[in-house]
Amino acid sequence: MSCYKFNQVRIETVQGDITTQSVDAIVNAANTSLLGGGGVDGAIHRAAGPELLAECRTLRGCVTGEAKLTRGYLLPAQYVIHAVGPIYGQDDAPDLLASAYHNSLQIAINHKLRSIAFPAISTGIYGYPINEAARISLRAVISCLHQSHTIELVRFVLFTSEALAIFNEGFAAVARNYDDITTCL
Ligand code: ADP
Repeated sequence: MSCYKFNQVRIETVQGDITTQSVDAIVNAANTSLLGGGGVDGAIHRAAGPELLAECRTLRGCVTGEAKLTRGYLLPAQYVIHAVGPIYGQDDAPDLLASAYHNSLQIAINHKLRSIAFPAISTGIYGYPINEAARISLRAVISCLHQSHTIELVRFVLFTSEALAIFNEGFAAVARNYDDITTCL
């Protein structure tokens, strides 16, 4: 695990399963249909129960780079923010990945949430290299946290020890470029 502080916010990486996280909102790496899929999406729907899919059906999908909020149902998290990342190689993939993080955090800020957990969006079925995704994610999160907000914790939940190690390396490289990021315990 690693931990940074930026503008009073704790930004941390952990290895684990996002469906077990006790935070105000977990982010789902969804697809544009919002009707469920494999990977983390499938795991979230299984853990939240069928009411999640019923609410998702009312949302009429989501454009790549954007995000939509639902309740968390049987999950420990109160809300799920369904974000659609890009498929690696598509036009503007880096900007769309940053937007997926940005729009998810903006929803959390608009709902005055204090804690949010992200998976490594687009790094599974969508093929984004984890080292590139890690750098984009941290930069996108930091850019949102300059404004006034309620967020106290941003947690990145990596499924494997390999993904965690790559995220930690990417975060350390990005953090070195900011004077106002400090490391914490
Ligand atoms: P995408 O289609 O956006 O690539 P995936 O669900 O295929 O989404 O993968 C995104 C990332 O989530 C991958 O790094 C994958 O290993 C990871 N992942 C899969 N299941 C879980 C889970 N239960 N908790 C956290 N991360 C997960």
